[in-house]
Amino acid sequence: MPTYQYNCKECQNSYNIKLTLAAKEDYVPECQQCGSEKVYQSFARIGVVGGSSATNSSSCDINSCSSANCSSCS
Ligand SMILES: [Zn+2]
Repeated sequence: MPTYQYNCKECQNSYNIKLTLAAKEDYVPECQQCGSEKVYQSFARIGVVGGSSATNSSSCDINSCSSANCSSCS
């Protein structure tokens, strides 16, 4: 099950939550610390175990990079 990280704009709290893709569609992000809905999803480095639907398998952030291992563009 993918783990998603959310950051709260109100209190800077960050938390991780595991959601199935179906559950995520219904999930209303809410800070688990202050209850604010002013949270945004972070795509920080989280290992997504079992995730196989990544659209970009490249390990670098260069959009034009099509290499899978990016050993030469870091
Ligand atoms: Zn908060």
